Amino acid sequence: MTIIEIPVIYGDGIGPEITSAVLSVLDAAQSNSSLKLVWIPVAAGLSALAEGDELIPQRTLDEIARCRVALKGPCATPVGEGFTSINVKLRKTFNLYAAVRPVRSIPGVETRYKNVDLIIIRENTEGLYSGVENEVTPGVVMSMKVASEVACRRIAKWAFRFANRRGRQKLTVFHKANIMKLTDGLFLKTASEVHVNDYPNIDFESNIIDAGCMKIVQDPTKFDVLLLENLYGDVMSDLCAGLVGGLGVVPGANFGDDLSIFEAVHGSAPDIAGRNIANPLALLMSAVMMLNFLAEKLQLPALSQRATSIKMAYDKCLIDGQKTRDLGGQMTTSEFADAVIANL
Ligand code: ATP
Repeated sequence: MTIIEIPVIYGDGIGPEITSAVLSVLDAAQSNSSLKLVWIPVAAGLSALAEGDELIPQRTLDEIARCRVALKGPCATPVGEGFTSINVKLRKTFNLYAAVRPVRSIPGVETRYKNVDLIIIRENTEGLYSGVENEVTPGVVMSMKVASEVACRRIAKWAFRFANRRGRQKLTVFHKANIMKLTDGLFLKTASEVHVNDYPNIDFESNIIDAGCMKIVQDPTKFDVLLLENLYGDVMSDLCAGLVGGLGVVPGANFGDDLSIFEAVHGSAPDIAGRNIANPLALLMSAVMMLNFLAEKLQLPALSQRATSIKMAYDKCLIDGQKTRDLGGQMTTSEFADAVIANL
């Protein structure tokens, strides 16, 4: 029996309910198999604080470092001073510099556009998420936007390599280099250099972020791979989610050189937490990304077969109109998970 251990952060808000739903599907998909994924629950977020622990306990960091992979529900960070965002801390601790968010039209989910197929690649460690903020003088505060040549080039290379491997045709970088000449200027310059020097076979385009958002909303099918610095990537992810049915259907992964954390794009959605109505699909899709990633990394084709069977099962649910409320359906979180399991 091959066993793969995977730390799981259940998270806050809707986190525990969607994570339980997703694990029930993953477990159902692995019954009678000699290849077993074993979940290691680890704490983070408000739930960790409530148990008198740190926001991200050391054991959580140790387990993720040991297993080199994790599945993560959304976590909430208390607002106010003294707490670094959990997501930012995890990304920085493990140097998870590349966030990848595939945004695709979903069968059975009616939206304005039919053939959306975008991949958002977000630089995850710098920009305005540097955490450097200070009070210049009473009443005047400042946030520092950081860009380093190393990180800009690293994410540009990662994005082009990813686009190339996946056979994607075009990469568009978004920036505001007309205003932030140094920071966004560096991001744009390094991306163009990587294109010219290493990947001239891929079409390369640059868009000023504001005009680029308008163009994406007008016709997302004209875009392919999108490369953005940290904050623009955050905003663009939610904008693009709106093109395909909302935050309930956009998965994500954070990659470093040899460690990855898979999580949905959405947050902990406190407005609907604890009511069993959240859509677990974005986290389930993130788990499918994780299975495919592990299949490739560990050379275990059985895992990609498992990923495909889960994808076919949830696609069938959606086509049959079995959906949660955010997609216009009536199902609860657990009913949707049960319907996916029934289709496996
Ligand atoms: P964060 O700042 O952590 O990214 P956010 O402020 O963007 O979080 P979310 O928690 O992502 O907010 O929620 C935004 C909106 O989308 C909320 O109205 C929430 O109810 C809805 N939403 C988010 N995730 C889901 C989901 N899985 N199913 C249904 N609705 C969701």
